[in-house]
Amino acid sequence: MSAHRVVVVGAGMGGLVSALQLAHQGLDVTVVEAGHSPGGKVHQRHVGGAAIDSGPTVFTMRWVFDQIFESVGTSLESELQISPLPVLARHFWEDGSRLDLHADLAQSIAAVREFSSPAEADRFAGFCATAKRVYEALEGPFIRSTAPTLMGMPSRLGARGLGVLTELGPFRSLWHSLGQHFKDPRLQQLFGRYATYCGSSPWQAPATLMLIAQVELNGVWSVHGGMHALARCLERLAQARGAVFKYGQACQDILVHGPQVRGVRLANGEELFADSVVFNGDVAALREGLLGPQARAAAPRKASPRSLSAVTWSMHTPTEGVTLDRHNVFFTSDYASEFNDIFRAQRLPRRPTVYICAQDRGTGASVAAGQPERLLCLVNAPAVGDGSTLTPQALDLCEQTSFSMVARCGLKLSLQPASHLRTDPRDFHQRFPATGGALYGQATHGWMSAFERPGAVTPIQGLFLAGGSVHPGPGVPMAAMSGQQAAAALLASPALTRRSPLAATSGGMSMR
Ligand SMILES: Cc1cc2nc3c(=O)[nH]c(=O)nc-3n(C[C@H](O)[C@H](O)[C@H](O)COP(=O)(O)OP(=O)(O)OC[C@H]3O[C@@H](n4cnc5c(N)ncnc54)[C@H](O)[C@@H]3O)c2cc1C
Repeated sequence: MSAHRVVVVGAGMGGLVSALQLAHQGLDVTVVEAGHSPGGKVHQRHVGGAAIDSGPTVFTMRWVFDQIFESVGTSLESELQISPLPVLARHFWEDGSRLDLHADLAQSIAAVREFSSPAEADRFAGFCATAKRVYEALEGPFIRSTAPTLMGMPSRLGARGLGVLTELGPFRSLWHSLGQHFKDPRLQQLFGRYATYCGSSPWQAPATLMLIAQVELNGVWSVHGGMHALARCLERLAQARGAVFKYGQACQDILVHGPQVRGVRLANGEELFADSVVFNGDVAALREGLLGPQARAAAPRKASPRSLSAVTWSMHTPTEGVTLDRHNVFFTSDYASEFNDIFRAQRLPRRPTVYICAQDRGTGASVAAGQPERLLCLVNAPAVGDGSTLTPQALDLCEQTSFSMVARCGLKLSLQPASHLRTDPRDFHQRFPATGGALYGQATHGWMSAFERPGAVTPIQGLFLAGGSVHPGPGVPMAAMSGQQAAAALLASPALTRRSPLAATSGGMSMR
């Protein structure tokens, strides 16, 4: 009997991991990707002769990738060079204050003592202990679990986990909870920013997102060759196991016959027959019917609010004034206005926080004074890339405000046209259809939101979902986990053993 045929739509993290694991199991895998390289949001831009990681830059939860690589008979270390970063992030404020968080907790506690006060350092240590308990309570029952439900959570959490969440107050916002932990508003701001890792506002995200503090304490890593090297590596491993990648091929329709998926139709009209399909685009595209009317049934009907988008600058330019580390955050004194602008007024923030990833730093290598270095600068933005409010003037103003704020914090950057490339929500919307440029699926707003993401299994037999808009949510490791969950669900499904009757009559459909 010939191998089960799978089409994976999209070579983002979720799609790549599904393709790799399914090809490793001997399935006949074809990946169709609208773009021209693997990775999706994990992408590079070329500026001034330098390749700059212009998507995700913070690599955490390496255990997810350890497991994925191990599941296909290899290891992360033997395929990629990765190193732990001693400084998790360097933070700057307009008043001139600075704080490094370290991989070593004791060093961070000492740094907070000096930055704020001994009492605040004690509160910080208490916060880290709570974040650890929350992480440990939720890792198994929620993060690793396939499609957890609200009703099922109490039994999954057990008495201990329930106790941790009750103590935390699961209905509280992250911002509220941080206000109880810290008296120094700068620390509330610093840890509130973790909500943005899920594309959300600290004022609306649930307190449970403080677990991200523990995720970072468990290690932030640098991937040699950039995050894009990780995507390339997954592609190479999948190809070595027989997966075929078709780039520059947008899927226009997911073909469904009765209750069963039967393949895909590409934008060029070609039809690919498949016993199963894994869809790695945003579920909003399914809901909006961009993959055909029948595939709509695979997405939850309710459209939840979009997560954050971003304006980014990929730069190759010298820096002066302050010494950057790998991950740098520049804060303004009015944090609330950023989220009011973005989520309420749906406009670019007038007082943005600026994140800068200095990609040649952090691993011991030094950057010679006056020499250009590779930077990704990012400012949060509303996901309105499909609207008409993002004018060039508004974007220019955002650029000026962002870089003057950074300059007030001490960092001088030269923004010559040849040394930087700007990307805004309109570009992201074009690359990730139906999203408005939202980079993290739906916003994690309110305590129920985490349960509203669909799981890997859909009501259409043989159609599976993977990616940041699917459980367990956005971020490179989480999207990778969703890819694993889609592969596992497919391998466990009756569709694996049953061949569609249409297989025999697939007519003009080609497989590759
Ligand atoms: C600027 C930026 C910074 C970020 N920072 C971080 C960070 O530091 N750490 C972190 O963990 N995460 C970060 N993220 C989020 C992280 O990148 C994403 O959550 C994750 O990579 C999403 O993976 P995915 O599986 O959803 O696939 P995606 O990256 O969304 O890729 C989906 C792919 O599917 C393709 N596709 C969609 N529809 C079709 C179709 N119809 N036909 C063919 N192909 C299709 C798209 O072209 C795309 O390549 C960041 C993202 C961005 C953009």
